[in-house]
Amino acid sequence: MVRVRFAPSPTGPLHIGGVRTALYNYLFARQNGGKMILRIEDTDQTRFVPGAEQYIIEALDWLGIEFDEGVHIGGPYGPYRQSDRKPMYRQYADQLIRDGWAYYAFDKPEALDAKRKEYEAQKKTFQYDCTTRGAMENSISLGKEEAQRRIDAGEPYVVRFMFPDNIDITVHDLIRGDVTMNSRLLDDKVLFKSDGMPTYHLANIVDDHTMEITHVIRGEEWLPSAPLHVMLYKAFGWQAPQFAHLPLLLKPEGNGKLSKRDGDRLGFPVFPLEWHDPKSGEVSSGYREQGYLPQAVVNMLALMGWNPGKREGDNGANPVFQEIMSMDELIKLFNIEHVSKNGARFNLEKAKWFNHEYFQQLSDEQVAAYLEKQLGEHGVTAAHDYVVKVAGMMKERITFPGELWDTCSYFFVAPTEYDPAAIKKRWKPGMTTHMAKVIEILHTAPFEYDALHQAILEDYIKGNGLNMGSVMNSLRLAVVGKTVGPDMLTLVMMLGKEETVRRVQRAIDTIGEVSE
Ligand code: GLU
Repeated sequence: MVRVRFAPSPTGPLHIGGVRTALYNYLFARQNGGKMILRIEDTDQTRFVPGAEQYIIEALDWLGIEFDEGVHIGGPYGPYRQSDRKPMYRQYADQLIRDGWAYYAFDKPEALDAKRKEYEAQKKTFQYDCTTRGAMENSISLGKEEAQRRIDAGEPYVVRFMFPDNIDITVHDLIRGDVTMNSRLLDDKVLFKSDGMPTYHLANIVDDHTMEITHVIRGEEWLPSAPLHVMLYKAFGWQAPQFAHLPLLLKPEGNGKLSKRDGDRLGFPVFPLEWHDPKSGEVSSGYREQGYLPQAVVNMLALMGWNPGKREGDNGANPVFQEIMSMDELIKLFNIEHVSKNGARFNLEKAKWFNHEYFQQLSDEQVAAYLEKQLGEHGVTAAHDYVVKVAGMMKERITFPGELWDTCSYFFVAPTEYDPAAIKKRWKPGMTTHMAKVIEILHTAPFEYDALHQAILEDYIKGNGLNMGSVMNSLRLAVVGKTVGPDMLTLVMMLGKEETVRRVQRAIDTIGEVSE
């Protein structure tokens, strides 16, 4: 039975890279008929941010990344928040000490600082390891009895892992293959802190084991910790889960990790939902609030670091890979072993492209619901069927729902201003006469598309040798206020005879006759 977990620390809003980690875990769980677990890793109380846990849950829910067990829904392996599991970790630290895999260390923060400075002065980096631990204050250098005496006297201490000297530790990674590191490169990490809490490393291993996690799928930034984790499993005599370390999400330029500042600089969110920082009050933009559809964000993120492999293009075209994939298709096609080792660049244009594609998949009714909300905000009411019709006609021009009002407002309210550049270009001398003629035709010809086409474009404009672009764009200017919009006569049919006549008359009155 496959069991995976997403294990964020509630230190702030969830970065979009973290969302991708959750997504890959979810795809993997679902395709293997396994379980997906949400565990909150809050052992570092100093970095706790109120609201972050709720934010994480809301963001993943918005994206359709579902859990089978977790802090918000419970389950048979709970509790799922590490601070609620606090009493269970101590025994594991004790076990490691008993078995000779860990030791007590009493070094005061100032003493450690002094050591670091001493090394820096010699252009070296201090590492607490088998070469230095003898010169520090711990149960190895002081001896068991002295260590016990200090503990009994209430002296604060931490528990450190004791790496054996000079052994090669191999992490088998599903994406990277074997990654080997020598223990000399690793420091004796703190496992248990003086505040009685485990560190991330100990809690993570104990929880993954006791929650029977089979696959650890997480960001590349944890790869350097993986040898310690492998050693911890060994020290406990537990079977380690399989590991997969996902590539970083990179800046659009490709150098370095995508940061919040890149998002601000380039105008795209790096968080799924808008985040209001409880301390500074600073607001960071979110995909949801910017009008991204959750399906689009999921699809885009799935392809940042993985693709389903190429297939022959249509009609023998170059091989292509399918880009638009629903969650169900992703679950079918995803393959953890095909995840790239290299970082994936963020591409804003591609993100917009995905949103546009998914927007087109919405029904006219769904688009109309967005539009009706915006009409309400502008104090406009309109018949529902009419709004649905406009939505259907205009949605292909839309990438973000927020663009609907600007793109469609003239279907609901007459223009009060006319684009000066378009007037200059299209509203030639004699145009008031031509527009008056259009009004006359609207009154006399049958109000039907073909009949109006014949009467205005064929009989009047072509029949009199007038400039088609000039007259039709002036009509558009009169009806829309600028020279944009759908097919002119379709628009006239939508607005109806009375409204069109009113608008054309108003343009005649407002713009008036011009001289050459
Ligand atoms: N709490 C860690 C984080 O926030 C989890 C790392 C892991 O998945 O092991 O990234």
